[in-house]
Amino acid sequence: MALRVALVTGASRGIGEAISRRLATDGFDIAMSDLPSLTSNLEAIQRDIASMGRRAYIHTGDVSKEHDVSSMVQETMKNLGGLHVMVANAGIMPLSTEPLGTVDMWQRVMAVNGLGSYLCYKYAAEAMIKQKQGGRIIGASSFFGKQGAENVTAYAASKFAVRGLTQSAARELGKYDITVNAYAPGFIETPLQLGFGMDKDTLATMKRAWASLTALGRPGQPDDIASLVSFLASQGSGYITGQTISVNGGSYFD
Ligand code: NAP
Repeated sequence: MALRVALVTGASRGIGEAISRRLATDGFDIAMSDLPSLTSNLEAIQRDIASMGRRAYIHTGDVSKEHDVSSMVQETMKNLGGLHVMVANAGIMPLSTEPLGTVDMWQRVMAVNGLGSYLCYKYAAEAMIKQKQGGRIIGASSFFGKQGAENVTAYAASKFAVRGLTQSAARELGKYDITVNAYAPGFIETPLQLGFGMDKDTLATMKRAWASLTALGRPGQPDDIASLVSFLASQGSGYITGQTISVNGGSYFD
């Protein structure tokens, strides 16, 4: 199997940006997708990847919309000549302020993190099966996909769903030489964490609290996740499938 083209969602920043840059360094041509409002970030990354001698294609859309995901996969195949690695990274993490959150929050989080991951897996699998070259599908779970907690009911449920999706897809797609795995990050310093609307002091306290739960005594960085994805996307990971692998500095959430 020749692994040449990777598609990354939520690619404009944070973990998705680090994964896009790392896979380009590994020799992949990269399709990067994110919401239309983040196009200028994608263009800056595209320029850097092109300067490394790799092709980078930009697609904007919403992973919770079936038409956007199907066109993202089709356009990637058309522009880069195939699809070998799908990284379904895009996700949201709103915190609830009332017991168990609201119905609206549940539906929004499930639409982006649950349905969005499913659509990425499904359309990537269809394309890879037709291509007959095997492939790698990689999803984004979380430490909250292994341990529920206060204020994250919908988010934790959506990340547990990614684990179930990953195990089941791995069983169904193994016969096509497609492996399916997910990463489960601990606290990683990205804009998602800043998006909680916390002030600097509260964020610093939260980082210290997380660090104290880990064996390594620090929060993670986007490159910590990109390193795992680099391996999962490689030929060498070919006998690993159905796994949701924690990258959490050795925290208790596993
Ligand atoms: P991030 O910095 O917020 O980046 C996620 C990207 O996905 C953003 O550009 C976001 O755009 C985009 N996105 C949101 N909704 C989308 C949609 N409907 N369609 C397409 N793109 C959409 O997040 P991150 O920290 O890098 O996290 C990446 C993944 O890892 C997520 O699935 C997250 O749940 C998971 N994760 C992160 C951590 C952590 O500590 N950072 C821990 C565990 C798991 P907007 O900014 O406009 O929303």
